[in-house]
Amino acid sequence: MSAPAARAEVFSIASYVGGESKLPGFEEPLKLSANEGAFGPPPGAIAAAAAAAATMHRYPDGGSQALCEAIGARFALNPAQIICGNGSGEILILLIQAYCGAGSELIMSAHGFSIYEIAAKLAGCTVKKAPETNLTTDVDALLALVTPQTRMLCIANPNNPTGTLLPQAEMLRLRAALPEHVLLIIDAAYAEYVEAADYDPGVALVDAGENTVMTRTFSKMFGMGGTRLGWAYAPPAVVDVYNRVRPPFPVNALAAAAGMAALAEPGWVERGRAHNTAARRRLVERLTQAGLSVVPSEANFILVNFATAARAIAADEFLKSRGIIARRVASYGLPEFLRITIGTDEDCNRAAAALTDFAHG
Ligand SMILES: *Cc1c(COP(=O)(O)O)cnc(C)c1O
Repeated sequence: MSAPAARAEVFSIASYVGGESKLPGFEEPLKLSANEGAFGPPPGAIAAAAAAAATMHRYPDGGSQALCEAIGARFALNPAQIICGNGSGEILILLIQAYCGAGSELIMSAHGFSIYEIAAKLAGCTVKKAPETNLTTDVDALLALVTPQTRMLCIANPNNPTGTLLPQAEMLRLRAALPEHVLLIIDAAYAEYVEAADYDPGVALVDAGENTVMTRTFSKMFGMGGTRLGWAYAPPAVVDVYNRVRPPFPVNALAAAAGMAALAEPGWVERGRAHNTAARRRLVERLTQAGLSVVPSEANFILVNFATAARAIAADEFLKSRGIIARRVASYGLPEFLRITIGTDEDCNRAAAALTDFAHG
């Protein structure tokens, strides 16, 4: 007799670890570990989810047609090229399952988002990581890894956990130099926060060919991580592939209703973006004054450099002693850093005060 065995690939995977949310001794710790958006969910989304609860005995629309149409209208995209999923992470996992398999290769950046690696390993696909320059995705380093076995290249732009951005010119240069058989995934989870003029979340490249996909999420700017809702804008052939491999009902009815209401919330994105830019600038200024160095970020978090892993751990412990939860990023190959979400002004003030005391103490 032997115990049932999962496939060998499974044991090459380290479980995804989300940002911590509990802190012993603190009833309501300040959670700055998961980039959840500063203002909670849009009020209209809360009301819409509550209203939808009355009909939760009904299965939702498996293709999320009304939601796709609302997303298309909001972002001026063809709804037939939009797919919705149980978080953008699940869309990414399913596309990697569908396009990558044993003998194939997936390329990502050295400090890229961990979901790509987890999904690729499960698919039996080899993961190749390109070195970065100044904690920024390096197009030439990515291109140097391409082989005939390469099926997919995944980039988060802006990237998590670094927060750094690739300008559109670099994305265009990457796509132009990539073989046509390589599917380029642009994970634009933080697109709503970006102010840089030379940024495109991926729409132009999806429209330009058959081999680029842009993924988006309701988990960050729209403050709906708990409902699990993401979407992608993709060429028709990729939409067809997704519809074959997706679960029958990837988006639950409450999430779909909340998502449509969130899109319609007046001024939500504009206000969130303006707040984020100003609050991030002030937080970076205060940390810099305290002698800490911060990686330039276009997202709703910053990566703070503590020079050594020991000092990053000490800073993390110090923050915890003040009831603040940051995110260690050692699993991303960045043991000397902490990632801190941009919250409300009050949240940022607490984080800045604590880290200033840490730096001076
Ligand atoms: C948060 C995040 C996502 C979003 O994941 P969901 O499954 O939509 O909650 C995707 N990619 C990156 C890089 C992220 O940081």
